[in-house]
Amino acid sequence: MNLNSHIAFALAVGLAAFHNLEVAILVGIGAALPDLDREYIFTRRKVFAKYQLHRALFHNIFVATLITYFNLYLGLGIFLHMALDLLTSPTDRGIEPFFPLGRIVNAFKLHYDGKISRSKGIMWYLEDPASLINRTADPGLREPKKIPWIRIYGPFKNSRLADWTIFYGSFIFTQLYNINNLLGWWEEFLELAFIKFGLIDTGIIIFYVLGELWRRKLQFIYVGTLTKGLIMGGMTIGLALILLQGAQLYSPNSLLDNDTIELGLLCFGIGFILALIHVKWRFKEIIM
Ligand SMILES: [Zn+2]
Repeated sequence: MNLNSHIAFALAVGLAAFHNLEVAILVGIGAALPDLDREYIFTRRKVFAKYQLHRALFHNIFVATLITYFNLYLGLGIFLHMALDLLTSPTDRGIEPFFPLGRIVNAFKLHYDGKISRSKGIMWYLEDPASLINRTADPGLREPKKIPWIRIYGPFKNSRLADWTIFYGSFIFTQLYNINNLLGWWEEFLELAFIKFGLIDTGIIIFYVLGELWRRKLQFIYVGTLTKGLIMGGMTIGLALILLQGAQLYSPNSLLDNDTIELGLLCFGIGFILALIHVKWRFKEIIM
């Protein structure tokens, strides 16, 4: 969904859940991070499409979990962002929640042309709806070759009714929630967003504004290497600001202690091996 919808929704959820504006802004900042994987000025559009990085690189449970450990509120923002994006259509590319682990397995069983693949190893079940995606998606998001269906897609189109309902609804909620002292709320909001978290927010704004300028406009017209260099330099500064203040937000949480995490991982490892044996014995093939 649109960046403004992600940020507004995260702010609203943060306010409702924690009743604290500073915390809600952190959730909002977290929700602004995943789409950093959208800008491809540092590579070529073809290369970007080849690796299918958008809605994968920073839209997966591994990055989200890591950031949640780093800072609970930033992590919540990332999970909220993923929850909204997975409701969007194949054209928008949903999300790839198990990136990069899901890509270890390349094979899939059912092809759209009716072909059926067989393999002794692990296979995904279906082919990704590439014909649909390649007809409708942005050129940088199209699939250059057949790949398995490893993304989550939903019914809603980016930037249309559901997207804008979330934006307007969330914005109105934040205002009505603070209606008794709206002016004071705005003062506090601006001070927190642009002074206390000024570095990271400025970094995010610079990165997206320049990235989108390049992606939507400049890459299609002739620009000299100097202009491109300046844009890349600006985006690098944006990224540096994000990392600089981001690093100061480190506050590991104790939601789960290490022993519980280790036990959980061990149990799922054993569960996976048992499931492999079970499925192979029962179906003579291993489909995810
Ligand atoms: Zn996204």
